Amino acid sequence: MKYALVTGGSRGLGRAICIALSQQGIPVIINYQSNHKAAEEVRDVIVSSGGWAELLQFNVGCEQEVSSALDKWEQEHPDDYIAYLVNNAGIRKDSVMFMMPEQNWHDVINTSLNGFYYVTRRLLPKMMMRKHGGRVVNMASLSGIKGMPGQTNYSAAKAALIGATKALAQEVASRNVTVNAIAPGFIETDMTKDLPQDELKKLIPMNRFGKAEEVASLVVFICSENASYITGEVISINGGLYT
Ligand code: NAP
Repeated sequence: MKYALVTGGSRGLGRAICIALSQQGIPVIINYQSNHKAAEEVRDVIVSSGGWAELLQFNVGCEQEVSSALDKWEQEHPDDYIAYLVNNAGIRKDSVMFMMPEQNWHDVINTSLNGFYYVTRRLLPKMMMRKHGGRVVNMASLSGIKGMPGQTNYSAAKAALIGATKALAQEVASRNVTVNAIAPGFIETDMTKDLPQDELKKLIPMNRFGKAEEVASLVVFICSENASYITGEVISINGGLYT
């Protein structure tokens, strides 16, 4: 069986992506860091609509946790492999740079960038061995393309993720593994709930924040056979906001 692993699948974009992939008949592994209740709720939604989902708790930014959780999963699933990897887990710790505590710099980069490295490196060998290949989808951001004041840590992490996406895509293309990044603008989730939505939406040509389900539909497309010749791309989804 070909599984999907969605990091940060307990809330926001990850939650919608887990549900949307399961609706395609793909069994889903819901990763989360600490919010067990939210992760269980996502699993319940999927299972109650006839899909298959299981939980896998680990901190993407901790190599030991990533390895031991995925080792255990593979031991329990000898005939299965993770063909779809959505590197979605991410955090924001905004402040202007001259006041930014060192910890906030490292935490944001560790989650988005090192998390991508630890999880993807661990799963790539099996994806590359299987003749059906695989899909790696990295959740970048508009902030990683244009830079956002107050987010030097986050913009740096997401810009680096975009660079890594382009490099890795070329490394694994011949093995039928595609690697793409998605760059959302403002999407309604817990991550953006403290932002002044009424002010910010005036900047967006569509005059609204996006919905998690709209991003999830894009992930479903990238994971589909229809997207088999798309790799190394950064696909924006932002309601027309300048990039
Ligand atoms: P969110 O609502 O804050 O949810 C974050 C998710 O990531 C939660 O499931 C959380 O798990 C998980 N997570 C955080 N740190 C983790 C770690 N170290 N290990 C494992 N899981 C971890 O965020 P979101 O808005 O859905 O954002 C998802 C991704 O999209 C992020 O990479 C974000 O940077 C990117 N993005 C979001 C927007 C937006 O407007 N929302 C725009 C551009 C890009 P717990 O529930 O256990 O805490």
